[in-house]
Amino acid sequence: MERIVLAVDLGGTNIRVAAINEHGTIKKRVQRPTLAHEGEASVLRSLLSALEEVYQAFPANQIKGVGVGIAGAIDLEKGIVTQSPNLVGFDGYPLRDKLQASFLKHLTIMIDNDANLAAMGEKWKGAGTGVNDFICLTLGTGIGGGIIIQGKLVHGADGMAGEAGHITVDPQGPQCNCGNRGCLEVLASATAIRREAIEALRRYPESELHKRCRHNPETITAEMVYQSAKAGDQVARKIFQDMGRYLGIGIASLINILNPEMVVLGGGVSKAWDMFFPFTKEEVQKRALKIPAVRVKIVPAVCGDDAGLLGAAYLVLHSMI
Ligand SMILES: [Zn+2]
Repeated sequence: MERIVLAVDLGGTNIRVAAINEHGTIKKRVQRPTLAHEGEASVLRSLLSALEEVYQAFPANQIKGVGVGIAGAIDLEKGIVTQSPNLVGFDGYPLRDKLQASFLKHLTIMIDNDANLAAMGEKWKGAGTGVNDFICLTLGTGIGGGIIIQGKLVHGADGMAGEAGHITVDPQGPQCNCGNRGCLEVLASATAIRREAIEALRRYPESELHKRCRHNPETITAEMVYQSAKAGDQVARKIFQDMGRYLGIGIASLINILNPEMVVLGGGVSKAWDMFFPFTKEEVQKRALKIPAVRVKIVPAVCGDDAGLLGAAYLVLHSMI
């Protein structure tokens, strides 16, 4: 009988649960809105109801465990969410105990950071297959990072390693949610692209971008900026150029420290590859040491939104070997 793991991606917007077999095939999936503003008890109820729906679809003895990815810092041993910027009320939350106290009590439950699990998913079924030393960056609303060295995730002393989004790339740059200035996350995420676009519209009211957002800068999305850049708008192109350069500065540092075989770039912003990557590559070639810079391959992620779910399943399956 094939083994099934329940994989969870607990994000600020959606809760996604999937049943994944040992070959990485997704057999069933369920999605619910997180409704984080309703508080942790409500989020837990939605999560358990989504888990139960997937659980009920398979014979109980086929399900071998639960893997959970969550945006935030995790105490891996205790299964506690120590800090989660997108989920109000989850700081210090004993998530594993709460899940273990439910109908899942007989199952192995493992929790890790969502960006770490995305890296693991890419290693198992995506761009990092067969690669033992690589870094995976998820370019979304923020920037998450996962580091795999000798085939294993690097967690660090507090489970917080790989927070590549908080590398300083401009000491005078904008304020980051973490309290620092000029983090990679405030200069190369979807949020950064949107902020820069709103700012640029004040200076260039004639730009294509202005028409696209129907002259209402508040409605701008990173996707709109990308479409304007594709259409040849110079203002939008410059935003991706700057974003790409900052990303390259951050990646160059990571390459110098870790000498990875590969850097995998995922998340929504990575879809704008043609607009930012030439500038990223230029900065990497300029700033990283020659031997590691020549060796490293910088590639788009393959698993898309499912990377974190696949990594969560792998985490549990691998723990059973
Ligand atoms: Zn920061």
